[in-house]
Amino acid sequence: MTELKRCPFCGATAVLVSNCDPANGKLLYYVMCEGCSLESQVKTEDKEDAIGYWNYRPIEDDLRTSISKLEAENKEIEEEKNSFIRELQHCSGLLRAVSKRRDQLKAALKKLHGSIKEAELTAINALEYETEDSKQ
Ligand SMILES: [Zn+2]
Repeated sequence: MTELKRCPFCGATAVLVSNCDPANGKLLYYVMCEGCSLESQVKTEDKEDAIGYWNYRPIEDDLRTSISKLEAENKEIEEEKNSFIRELQHCSGLLRAVSKRRDQLKAALKKLHGSIKEAELTAINALEYETEDSKQ
């Protein structure tokens, strides 16, 4: 037997009910909500038809399809976002490493400039000393 959908109004479970048709004594089936006692409009001798009428909800089915599509799209977007965040974190790490290396190189360059200046002064002093020596 096909499963019954929940009540479209209150969301409670529903049950298949049968009543005797007073006109001919045959059993008529319909579905009733266990929460709000809503009954399906169609009463029929066929159980599956009674369930089919209760379960026939084209707008709800369309909405469920749309929701499923949107949820799938949302999942894809979420995965792309997470991938982007991981890339961003990786780039940020690289940027920190480059920045740290740049600072190290700046310090080394400054030290090198100091050494060059010192060597120049030493060379100039030595040259001046030699020049003064040669004058005498
Ligand atoms: Zn209900």
